[in-house]
Amino acid sequence: MTLLVTGGAGFIGRNFVDRVRALHPETTVVVLDLLTYAGTGEAVAHFAADPGVVFVRGDVADPVAVEELFAAHRPARVVHFAAESHVDRSISEPSVFLRTNVLGTQVLLEAARRHGTQRVLMVSTDEVYGSLADGAPAFTEASPVQPRSPYSASKAAADHLCQAWVHTHGLDVVTTRCSNNYGPWQFPEKLIPVMIHKALDRAPLPVYGTGRNVRDWIHVIDHCDGILAALEHGRSGAVYNLGADCERTNLDIVRLILDILGRPHELIHFVADRPGHDWRYAIDATRARTELGWSPRRVLDDALAETVEWYVEHQDWWRPLVG
Ligand code: NAD
Repeated sequence: MTLLVTGGAGFIGRNFVDRVRALHPETTVVVLDLLTYAGTGEAVAHFAADPGVVFVRGDVADPVAVEELFAAHRPARVVHFAAESHVDRSISEPSVFLRTNVLGTQVLLEAARRHGTQRVLMVSTDEVYGSLADGAPAFTEASPVQPRSPYSASKAAADHLCQAWVHTHGLDVVTTRCSNNYGPWQFPEKLIPVMIHKALDRAPLPVYGTGRNVRDWIHVIDHCDGILAALEHGRSGAVYNLGADCERTNLDIVRLILDILGRPHELIHFVADRPGHDWRYAIDATRARTELGWSPRRVLDDALAETVEWYVEHQDWWRPLVG
């Protein structure tokens, strides 16, 4: 079985490729990745050591490159991670988000349709549901899609395209919408690696606004296992929320990191808030738990401590990436 993984050199994709190769060594993985700033050469060198992984550098929004890849490798299934993923960047440079996240998804769906691909799994995000008030019930799959940032709007557009290819062309597409991930190989622009970096350097830790915004955290390997479960057992056309019932304020997370590293809370430095900053995300993953037989296994306190340790041990990877 050949599995195409787009965006496999990024944070979640890299973890996912390793997970697939460890759990399903009979599966050949073809990785398509443009190697933007977020996809690193380290990942390519890592894949080169595994004969079961083929790395192709290319743009998911380039129909010629994607057609060539499908013709050459004939993937039975596709897991689609490739995206621009950083909300702050989507505010300053939205057009690349539309190109990769929207056009790229359309190009991929069309190639999958033409080549009779058995199943496409769209890796989406809880951010498509918008923002919750304190005390409001968690997002379910029936919650309205109300994105509020250029990033989440582009992901929502991609989700809608997936539904269009299901209903119009009968393509088998399953969508997962996951909450905020943490773990190894996350690019050092996202909250947790940024705070680890600053804390290690005893530099001020920049926290947006009041730091009271709430995110729902899940370890990346639990997310990868949810994707695998949806790929195997999901219903075509269905959406599955993935989350670990782990709401924390940003301030809670930052304080935890400082405590793990033995640094004082006085390093916290509040900075001007992100424009349109979503207040709270919370995911109800009941459908995935009941239909897919999946449940997250890692507990934040332990898994965050392991993640901090990982960043301490892998400074040779992330320090050169920090501008
Ligand atoms: P990331 O930014 O770390 O990785 C994205 C990867 O996509 C990089 O390797 C990059 O080189 C590649 N890429 C970008 N543009 C491309 C293009 N035009 N063609 C081919 N490859 C391209 O992102 P991530 O955090 O690993 O997220 C992966 C996916 O998971 C995204 O679709 C994101 O929306 C989704 N997601 C992320 C989270 C999270 O917390 N990080 C949560 C839910 C969903």
